[in-house]
Amino acid sequence: MAPIPQEYDFIVIGGGSGGSGAARRASGWYGAKTLLIENGRSGGTCVNVGCVPKKITWNFASVSEMLKDGVHYGYDIPQGIKFNFADFKKKRDDDVKRLNAAYERNWSRENIDLVHGTAIFKSTNEVEVTEKDGGSALYSAPHILIATGGYPVLPKGIPGAEHGISSDGFFDIEELPKKMAFVGAGYIAVELAGVMAAIGVEVHMFIRGETFLRNFDPMVQHTLTQRYEDAGIVIHKNHKGFKEVVNLKDGKPGEKSLKLIGEDGTELEVNELLWAIGRNPEIEQLDPAKVGVGLKPKGHIKVDEYQNTSVKGIYALGDVTGQAELTPVAIAAGRALSNRLFGVKHPKGGEHLANAKLDYSNIPTVVFAHPTVGTIGITEPQAIDHYGKDNVKVYHTRFTSMFYDFHPAEEKKLSPTEYKLVCEGPDERIVGMHILGPGSDEIMQGFGVAVKMGAKKRDFDSCVAIHPTNAEELVTLK
Ligand code: FAD
Ligand code: NDP
Repeated sequence: MAPIPQEYDFIVIGGGSGGSGAARRASGWYGAKTLLIENGRSGGTCVNVGCVPKKITWNFASVSEMLKDGVHYGYDIPQGIKFNFADFKKKRDDDVKRLNAAYERNWSRENIDLVHGTAIFKSTNEVEVTEKDGGSALYSAPHILIATGGYPVLPKGIPGAEHGISSDGFFDIEELPKKMAFVGAGYIAVELAGVMAAIGVEVHMFIRGETFLRNFDPMVQHTLTQRYEDAGIVIHKNHKGFKEVVNLKDGKPGEKSLKLIGEDGTELEVNELLWAIGRNPEIEQLDPAKVGVGLKPKGHIKVDEYQNTSVKGIYALGDVTGQAELTPVAIAAGRALSNRLFGVKHPKGGEHLANAKLDYSNIPTVVFAHPTVGTIGITEPQAIDHYGKDNVKVYHTRFTSMFYDFHPAEEKKLSPTEYKLVCEGPDERIVGMHILGPGSDEIMQGFGVAVKMGAKKRDFDSCVAIHPTNAEELVTLK
């Protein structure tokens, strides 16, 4: 006799940012009978190997930078102060564990059933879960959400590439390597290379172009790439890739030794190598194509603006769809989906939710580089392409923050602050804002609201400056 599935209103596959956001809204707010299936650590990428441990490590690096800055203010801080990275890592791991438990507590408080196991589609409304202890169970629901995220790509066809690590392995490092190579030019390479350099590791970056962050405004690309070089990071530009990675000596990063042999024959020995060349959608185990779910060319799940896949009753969101791969995006898309599916008839919701969806335009984002970079909207070249050169006006400023007034000239150049507003039409609607410099992460959130509301340059000008701050330059641009 075929097993009888346990029935739910909503099955959510993946307990990361998007899955958790959707499940909590569905069950916690609207009382939908919800099952959450997670085959790894609760909280997904962001909590375990993403935003959270990354930002804590960025904070660790910022303390080191601040200790150097303090000397210029007259603090008697001995340079070369020792730190215990293994101890820091343990504290960071404990903090992540605390969050894993907090996620599970919230799910339990909101009556979400949690199963630790791997989900596989059985039919369009049935999912089989292989649990960690080897058992399996069948579940069904009229609404199934795929929020399975992604995983870091390792290069194919380079002998020895497996001796390197990915961003996941970065968070296992207990002992700092003396010399570390980063391959890639996106958020992850820039953020992780930045923290390692700030805490004294000799960093080499291998990028395919002249600059990194090539999807960002040229101002960000050029100033940040130059800043990293000024800080002593060796950037191997226009790199043609590697022929081979030779494992010279196994061991922890402190002891490990790898030889990188470039396609052009150049060689470099390092103690660790990190590949940060992008992420793939996690769909292999789930196999959604088996039940007819359409995929994009790189394997991401195809969805419409309401997160519907090509199969009725199956939805997808977050990194597995390849749409703006950011935690708040996945959470917001998850909440919007649950509002639409379960909120319409609920007293807490209402009829207005029938068309609930996430607006993917003007999403602010930050690169936790050194210094931080914030961006929203389109770049200057995109604006010119879209609106025509004559309809685009750009406002730009570059300065050194007052914080660095006492720093010697050679250190001042390590502290650029640069802002750009890209405006469109006679009304000068702000369609792009790009900021780089201390505090840009925090500054961006508030200005993001203004840009999302359709702010014009004159709206910025009409807001009285807060003095003395860096951000005041944004409301006094000429
Ligand atoms: P995930 O959080 O990856 O969750 C998917 C979950 O599904 C995982 O827990 C996985 O175990 C589970 N799963 C997969 N397949 C199955 C299956 N078959 N059965 C059961 N469970 C399954 N974003 C920011 O906004 N800010 C940042 O600062 C930031 N920093 C980052 C730093 C790094 C190093 C990385 C890698 C990412 C960072 N991100 C950041 C991106 C952010 O982490 C992701 O966009 C976000 O986690 C995506 O959420 P998600 O729900 O789509 O997927
Ligand atoms: P990205 O897609 O951002 O960047 C990967 C980069 O690596 C590409 O831009 C490409 O740059 C380069 N690359 C690709 N293939 C190769 C190759 N074979 N050799 C050398 N370089 C290569 O991916 P990430 O892995 O950095 O990050 C994934 C996503 O996670 C991000 O897009 C972001 O959405 C999210 N994230 C967000 C963060 C935040 O919010 N602060 C932090 C970290 C991640 P090029 O074409 O210039 O060579």
